[in-house]
Amino acid sequence: MISKKMENMVANSSAIRAMFEEGNRMAKLYGAENVYDFSLGNPNVAAPESVKEAIRRILEEEDPIALHGYTNSNAGYEDVRAAVAESLNGRFGTAFSAKNITMSVGAAGGLNVILKALLNPGDEVVTFAPYFGEYRSYVDNYDGVLVEVSPNTADFQPKLGEFEEKITKRTRAVIVNTPNNPTGVVYSEETILKLAAILEKKQKEYETDIYLISDEPYRELAYDGVEVPYLTKYYANTIVGYSYSKSLSLPGERIGYLVIPDEAADSGNLIAAANVATRILGFVNAPTLQQKVVKACLNERTDISYYDRNRETLYQGLAKLGFECVKPQGAFYLFVKSPVADEKAFVAAAKKHNILIVPGSSFGCPGYVRIAYCVAYETIVNSLPKFALLAEEYK
Ligand code: PLP
Repeated sequence: MISKKMENMVANSSAIRAMFEEGNRMAKLYGAENVYDFSLGNPNVAAPESVKEAIRRILEEEDPIALHGYTNSNAGYEDVRAAVAESLNGRFGTAFSAKNITMSVGAAGGLNVILKALLNPGDEVVTFAPYFGEYRSYVDNYDGVLVEVSPNTADFQPKLGEFEEKITKRTRAVIVNTPNNPTGVVYSEETILKLAAILEKKQKEYETDIYLISDEPYRELAYDGVEVPYLTKYYANTIVGYSYSKSLSLPGERIGYLVIPDEAADSGNLIAAANVATRILGFVNAPTLQQKVVKACLNERTDISYYDRNRETLYQGLAKLGFECVKPQGAFYLFVKSPVADEKAFVAAAKKHNILIVPGSSFGCPGYVRIAYCVAYETIVNSLPKFALLAEEYK
């Protein structure tokens, strides 16, 4: 018999799997070109050519025993971590060194490592709706309690008044994700300054350390030259969780890193705890070949002009049809207001036109739907007449 906790998790993930399977079933039934599957955040732009070249070169040049062996430190190769630190210092004016970097199994692995390192049972982790639904499980994995700040549907910047009220003595961490999944919104510098000031105030009030965890797999996917503030510069107790899943289109390769700056409270112990957590959660170390690959490709990026064209076409197309949506500045999602309060009914109506989208309640924000536009451009163009038929139903 499986554990009580897992019973719920299995039930929830069946819903996601059911949607995935439904997409496959519909593609077989109607032909893949007649199904508009916007349900998954799986990049459809190939990894840069330099990634393939790096993989070939590394396989040919490196000693295979060392390359495929465990790393000396669970935090990863020293030279890779030093190179990541140096690259961040060059970009953001920080002063990290190898010891501040723990290589991780994607952003998901990094988040689990840092939450394992931080949480005692019953500790609270605050996040802003709408948010990546997996946070619920990640926090629950360590018997923490996820506390949601309700969505600010005017522009999807966080509601800071409510945030301040929801911080308690038990608040150990706050997770922010910008550019955001599912809204595509980038938190402004003004927002970050206010958020940091609230955290400073609350730390003093409760005489605690509250860590700000910046989950940023979409950092490089920002459009129109928008700045994505680097949060360690605004608040000392910031931990960054980065991933190459989207920036290099490598989600299946499971590679990313955590930054634990010296300025963070109890930094030395936290770094040691992240190291041990990497081991005891069963990751042991981040994939070795991919560590070498990202070191070789630190200045490479996925082709964001592809996503940008999709963003413009879909956003303009849907706006013309009367759908309401805050124009996203990053990531590859559109978060659209459902024309009816019950967005699940809208999702079901869309499915009748072979359009697959995800209800906002999966992200703690009912009444909205997420459309992932990391799909072929033709899918976007061909879906618009179907969206037009769908819009007709609500006129
Ligand atoms: N955080 C957010 C906000 C995401 O959207 C995702 C994946 O879509 C992840 C974390 C997990 O990313 P990774 O593949 O790097 O584990």
